[in-house]
Amino acid sequence: MKTKVLAVGLVSMIFAGYVTVAVSAPPHWSYEEESEWGAIEDATQPIPLRYPYAECGIGKHQSPVDLADAKIIKSKPLSKLAVQYGVDTPSFINTGHAIQVNTSKNFTGGLKVGKELLPLIQLHFHEPSEHVFGGKKFPAELHFVHINQDGRIAVLAVTINTGKENTAFQTILDNMPYGSGEENAATGVKLRLEKLLPPNINTRNLKYFTLAGSLTTPPCSEGVQWYILPKSITISEAQLEQLKTFYSDNARSTQNLNERSILAN
Ligand SMILES: [Zn+2]
Repeated sequence: MKTKVLAVGLVSMIFAGYVTVAVSAPPHWSYEEESEWGAIEDATQPIPLRYPYAECGIGKHQSPVDLADAKIIKSKPLSKLAVQYGVDTPSFINTGHAIQVNTSKNFTGGLKVGKELLPLIQLHFHEPSEHVFGGKKFPAELHFVHINQDGRIAVLAVTINTGKENTAFQTILDNMPYGSGEENAATGVKLRLEKLLPPNINTRNLKYFTLAGSLTTPPCSEGVQWYILPKSITISEAQLEQLKTFYSDNARSTQNLNERSILAN
């Protein structure tokens, strides 16, 4: 009997150990220790996987960047860019680093780059902006994250100024949970996503800046194509204050361009 209990205990210990390694959460990170992201260790992993955020430190195509640092090349013909966002009944997620909206399973909208439609998976906010123009930061920035079936990521970035209130943004604030890691799903709340784009733009043929970059949070993976709109949206001062009650200073500093060019249409 005793042996059996011991054996069962041993098996569950091994199992627990295995589970810990296989599904262990990625290591914690914060904006305060941004310069150390590349050196953050995951002690549960063998050597080749020990530094899961190494790219943050050694990557050469990192984001965000200062758009004024680049020669903006307009000569090359670029892909036509269009948004097909429409309306969704999304989930509202407090990730612990930002407020985020995840599109529903049935959502079919996305970003059309040339003839390819990249599905919109989520959108989230940074305060202040991550991309800057000649060192000038905007009060906030919105990232629409699109991922295609091959895992290729394209982010549409929209800078945010203060001014007129944005009702779609208010819907996001009103439905966002305050607890880190909490999700407000299946609310049935309708969000008109295109209301989060600058007014009076041609959504079927957007003006944009584009460059190759990375995720701006660990693991800072590269291979992300960025599309940055030259026009901003506005939220009211009160909405900016409300955004800050969730997260403030959740913006990575600008990274070296390292010979990258920024293209514009
Ligand atoms: Zn972002």
